[in-house]
Amino acid sequence: MELLELYLSPRDAQRFQAIATRLPVGVGDAATDCVLPFWVGEQDWRKTIIKVLESSQGFRAEHYPEPGEQAWLEQEGLLLPDRQSFHAAYLERIGQSLYRSLFPPDSEIKQAFLNSLRVAEQHNTDLHLRLKFAAKSVERSRMADYPWELIHDGQRFLQHRQVIVSRYIAYEALSPALLPQKQLLVLLIAPRAEDATQKLTKLSDAEQQAIRLGLSKAAAEGLVVLESLPKATLKALSTDLAQRAETQMPQVLHFDGHGLFGKRCVNPQCGQIHTGIKVERCRSCSQLLPEPTGFLLFEDEQGGPDYVSAASLAAFLPKGMALVVLSACQSGMAVAGESIFNGTAQQLIDARVPAVVAMQYGVRVDAASQFAEQFYRILGQKKPLVIALNEGRKWMGVDGNQWYRPVLYLRWLDNQGGQMFAETAIAEPRQLKLSRFQRLEMKRLQVELEDLEQDYESVKAQLRVELDASTQNRLERQVEQIGQAMDTKEQQLFRLKQQDE
Ligand SMILES: [Zn+2]
Repeated sequence: MELLELYLSPRDAQRFQAIATRLPVGVGDAATDCVLPFWVGEQDWRKTIIKVLESSQGFRAEHYPEPGEQAWLEQEGLLLPDRQSFHAAYLERIGQSLYRSLFPPDSEIKQAFLNSLRVAEQHNTDLHLRLKFAAKSVERSRMADYPWELIHDGQRFLQHRQVIVSRYIAYEALSPALLPQKQLLVLLIAPRAEDATQKLTKLSDAEQQAIRLGLSKAAAEGLVVLESLPKATLKALSTDLAQRAETQMPQVLHFDGHGLFGKRCVNPQCGQIHTGIKVERCRSCSQLLPEPTGFLLFEDEQGGPDYVSAASLAAFLPKGMALVVLSACQSGMAVAGESIFNGTAQQLIDARVPAVVAMQYGVRVDAASQFAEQFYRILGQKKPLVIALNEGRKWMGVDGNQWYRPVLYLRWLDNQGGQMFAETAIAEPRQLKLSRFQRLEMKRLQVELEDLEQDYESVKAQLRVELDASTQNRLERQVEQIGQAMDTKEQQLFRLKQQDE
């Protein structure tokens, strides 16, 4: 596989720079100023596009009530003039707008992309297009909201032929390098809580069964083992993980349920959840709200809603868990113009989960089942994540409007596209390339990293008991800070190790 990495760096509300940070051998450097798509003057129609992509059933006028919204869809050629249904080629047209935005005509970056494709063709292999986003969440938030997986060059969707897209959040963390395992152990958790105040309806058991069916088909080959939690509470999950021996730890957590991006009131007596990022004060008690974050909807002991932030979930996950998969089926979703799991996926990556596969939008039941079957089958064969994702995507059906929903986020640099299992465990003897001073520096960094890891574990342990909202918030911030310090050290170590190769 050839690799082209594009770093997407925002400039202002409408502009960003695309910089080629990794290129196939023989392809020249490139950087280009780009303009985001779906803007008309000062009006940003991004949310409208997301609503279009969310829907599985086609156009419904009640989803587009904003003044000028339907007129814009018609102007863009996405909606037919009778305003009853989408144009047959609406996905292609959205994909072309994204393509023109990322690869402006006659730009360096477009040339670099075309040259990279040519190199991949000559080598009879695929091109891995890796989109790199800043580790700082504020800087990347808007850029990662766009459905880049849909890019279409005027003749075809790139992902349907020869190109595989992944997203890398630039922590330069160390690879999870799991030891070779005979079988991949997947732990399924499927909360069925509902919350009418957030318009989250109960997901049906048919949906859960479909995922289970897909997973068990993949398990039939003997390379994947599926286990599921009888009770979908955070407590049940943490108890289950705490009781396992190291060899029995799942490598994958598959979460099938609702996600939400928003703010939770820190007042211990309140704790109200607010969707979105704009609201500043709690609607119930007027307390100032914290920064928004991603939540997953677990059940509480009575089966009611329990919002668990990405950071507190990550605190329960054992070291060997390399991948979290987030999926939700469409029927339980309200069309909201917001990607359900994109934000949560990025927050899990921020909280040191090495890889996340997330459905950007709700998925049809049959497509979710097909995806699970093929994705886990390929992953069970120890193939890299991008390959598994691409296979899963193909089986969702290339003609429908489901295939662009899964997105892969990685936290570490991996030119193979997320190889989680070490293929060979034999280390080759190496020549000395670092100075004696640099070797001492490496040792020092390793010791400091271990100390930080201990701090990290101890704060995580404190998070495991039930806490009031403000203590939980404080500890989550602490986890975040220690995590950032660890990242800095890991990056320094990573650079030294790279020099050593
Ligand atoms: Zn409140």
